[in-house]
Amino acid sequence: MRAGTEGARERWVRTGGIELCVQELGDASRPTVLLLHGYPDSKEVWSEVAERLRDRFHVVLYDIRGCGRSTAPLPLRGGFTLEKLTDDFLAVAEAVSPDAPVHLVGHDWGSVQGWEFATARRTEGRVASFTSISGPSLDHLALWLRRRATRPTPRRVAQLLSQSARSWYVYALHTPVLPEALMRGPLLKRWPKILARLEKLPSDGYPTESLATDAAHGAWLYRDNIRARMRRPRTDAYAHAPVQLITPTGDVFLSDRLYDGLEEWAPGLVRHTLAAKHWVPRSRPDQVSAWIAEFVAERERGAGGPAGRASAPAGPYAQAFGGRLVLVTGAASGIGRATAFAFAEAGARVIAVDRDPEGAVRTAEMARLLGAPEAAAETVDVSDEAAMEKLAAKVAAEHGVVDILVNNAGIGLAGAFLDTSAEEWRKILDVNLWGVVHGCRVFGRQMAERGQGGHIVNTASAAAFQPSRFLTAYSTSKAAVLMLSECLRAELAGKGIGVTAICPGIVNTGITATARFTGVSEDEQRQLRKKAVRLYGRRNYPPEKVAEAVLRAVHRDQAVVPVTPEAHGLRLMSRFTPRLLRALARIDLPL
Ligand code: NAD
Repeated sequence: MRAGTEGARERWVRTGGIELCVQELGDASRPTVLLLHGYPDSKEVWSEVAERLRDRFHVVLYDIRGCGRSTAPLPLRGGFTLEKLTDDFLAVAEAVSPDAPVHLVGHDWGSVQGWEFATARRTEGRVASFTSISGPSLDHLALWLRRRATRPTPRRVAQLLSQSARSWYVYALHTPVLPEALMRGPLLKRWPKILARLEKLPSDGYPTESLATDAAHGAWLYRDNIRARMRRPRTDAYAHAPVQLITPTGDVFLSDRLYDGLEEWAPGLVRHTLAAKHWVPRSRPDQVSAWIAEFVAERERGAGGPAGRASAPAGPYAQAFGGRLVLVTGAASGIGRATAFAFAEAGARVIAVDRDPEGAVRTAEMARLLGAPEAAAETVDVSDEAAMEKLAAKVAAEHGVVDILVNNAGIGLAGAFLDTSAEEWRKILDVNLWGVVHGCRVFGRQMAERGQGGHIVNTASAAAFQPSRFLTAYSTSKAAVLMLSECLRAELAGKGIGVTAICPGIVNTGITATARFTGVSEDEQRQLRKKAVRLYGRRNYPPEKVAEAVLRAVHRDQAVVPVTPEAHGLRLMSRFTPRLLRALARIDLPL
């Protein structure tokens, strides 16, 4: 029994002289989700996703002709045309869901086929929706290439060259015999290792033992279709069902520019991007199945127009963060609250964590209003190791593994070193450093164990690289957070988990009203706080801009991000004029 397909019901569908091996999971009275595999794959490439969808849907997988356990057409040449593959799809759809159209999901060549089924006239009424992953419509591709070749601009030529460079394997697969010989010979044994290394896939019994025939027969997909469609593309390949596009941004085979203007063919297209490589059904099954489930459920509810979505998240980051699970600490105020709101606006699911219970609840409520499909509040002191462990277990049980963690909670402390008590040192390090350490440990471990990537953002400060005679304890805590982030980034890079240190300068938040000043009376304390509030108010740099920098940093996987202009300046000075920075460090508190 292959991984993830336990309990599957198997049947054989005869069509056009061949037999297709079909598997079904879940309750057949539920909406049917039909998963189409690519090259050189068999239906088992979907096993992780199928497993996650089977409780909610009737999930159907089949080996396409000549692959897995399905029989191959004879002769092979001419047996793999998109027309014949469409016959196969219609036969399977008729067998598994005679009374209702099916929701298609295709990866790689499965997606190429899916585009055919979602746009051909004779499949109209049989497709309820289509989720496309890493496989364009050959017709759209041909027209995309023609436009760039016949009306070249420097940008279009660059796009053309970039995609051509990624298509080397398409030319290789057109050569006779060689691909078959390679895949039956030296490549066969190495392919699983190549996949595991380059694509960072788990070694869990996939690819299956049919790999050699999948690769040899599948080569005819290219030979039977590419040239023919490049010469004579259909110019009416408009989708007759809603389409969702999932684009892995690290796909070495396909440029994401291929999908520019795709809305022309698929009105109301829903787009998502995923920081991952080509084989996302295996490397990111949680996120892929979540997007499939949401899209299918919305179509079944009949939401909106062609592609549904009355309240689709908008903004530049909606594609990247829609549906992701984001946890922000220190979310009841300032930068944390603004960050939670920015992720909510992008359609992320948000968990607002703070030691201030009411503030956290208000953030979660607002996040829901701003577009988060799900928002929760948790009251936790980040410096409490046991409480953080408990939080991680609760979040995993109730919401799943966090995709993006923002360790932001922090407190301020100003004053000379000799005026700072050991207790004050302990307190600031407990929150500003240990809080981040606990967050990274408990949630970072879950991310690493899940093996599906993620991102950790730690809020450091410009104080991390600016020495100062009046911020010794605070700066020390933030410098430690910066170094922790840099080290962790190196450690987690191999697991597809990015780590960012955010270094804001002076930002107008509530931190000035709660910061402590050492070595002064309570009266002086109040006066100094008032002055600090005024100073930060005059600078008036909004926390929303820091939030924007956080989303950009996660999207671009940036390592260290100074935010305000003074933070940029100080970062440059720390590198190029450290002596000047040391001179500045001697200036006393400007209050
Ligand atoms: P803020 O006071 O407005 O927000 C901090 C939030 O963290 C508050 O809601 C507070 O209740 C929460 N918090 C504090 N200690 C906690 C704990 N032990 N457990 C859980 N929650 C706790 O301050 P802010 O300016 O938004 O600060 C956010 C982060 O940004 C901090 O790490 C801060 O050091 C850093 N930072 C701020 C500035 C600035 O100028 N405001 C500059 C650089 C860095």
